[in-house]
Amino acid sequence: CGIVGYIGYREAYPIVIKGLKRLEYRGYDSAGVMLYDGENLKVSKAKGKVSDLEERASKEITINGSIGIGHTRWATHGVPNDVNSHPHLSNSGDLAIVHNGIIENYAPLKAELLKRGYVFHSDTDTEVLVNLIEEVQKKDKLKLGKAVQVALNQVVGAYAIAVFDKKNPNEIVAARLGSPLAIGVGEGEFFIASDASPFIEYTSNAIYLEDGEMANIRLHKQMKVRKIKDDSLVNPTIQELQM
Ligand code: GLU
Repeated sequence: CGIVGYIGYREAYPIVIKGLKRLEYRGYDSAGVMLYDGENLKVSKAKGKVSDLEERASKEITINGSIGIGHTRWATHGVPNDVNSHPHLSNSGDLAIVHNGIIENYAPLKAELLKRGYVFHSDTDTEVLVNLIEEVQKKDKLKLGKAVQVALNQVVGAYAIAVFDKKNPNEIVAARLGSPLAIGVGEGEFFIASDASPFIEYTSNAIYLEDGEMANIRLHKQMKVRKIKDDSLVNPTIQELQM
């Protein structure tokens, strides 16, 4: 299972696909990708190998964009199939998430969201999380980062996540608790991945999120890292990777 993300000026699709291949060693049963071109958001996902995903994505990802997230899944909730593969979209279609880990209390959260009229297309815990973020965002009129933070504070479990919001598309929000997440810091671009192997060819500067931290990764802005629990800002250490 692995996560890859890119936000910057290059074509995101090949970076994400190549990154997923670098993370194949971690084991997985399905893979998927989301791409955004400034207007359209496209998702393609498939049970099987990253090469199976590529075959499908060559038909479904009909745009070029410089923002993308990708995922290799190791199923915990819901069988390995196309629908349960990540990325998962929220009901509005605005939010996309990739997630490694487990949302242990997904059942009561899902019951509450169902009461509020949310519809679920997959059997995953992850689709509950993305809709919880959407619900928080709508109810309290919050920006993505804040909504992710409030939602994660209602969650019991383990996660590495990357979330994108079409309504505020210059940003990816990433967070971790119990699953690894590294952020590659380039010039005018950022990379997100379960380990540095997907981005080491592009940048040697990496920030490894600590457990309980989240990052607002914004284009042309300083990255903000904070503690999910109490919102305190963290001064992240940038590590120099050996190429
Ligand atoms: N619990 C999530 C699922 O089953 C994520 C699994 C993973 O870590 O890949 O979809």
